[in-house]
Amino acid sequence: MTKKRTLARKNCANWNVGKCLGCVFIRENGELHMKIDRKLANKDCVVEDGCDYFENVVMKGKLCI
Ligand code: SF4
Repeated sequence: MTKKRTLARKNCANWNVGKCLGCVFIRENGELHMKIDRKLANKDCVVEDGCDYFENVVMKGKLCI
């Protein structure tokens, strides 16, 4: 397992046994919303190919390493 994948497994709230729940945050008109991203939901975690949620939310938080 790569380091990024291990970080996702330990820290990403969307991690579900290697699959992604696909719940992401978006900001619209100055308000924060949650939505299910169909490109991510119920699919294999794509952290190694690039995941905006991982880079912009997970990696900005306090990490369990
Ligand atoms: S694809 Fe991104 S949001 Fe989904 S589990 Fe992997 S790191 Fe988390």
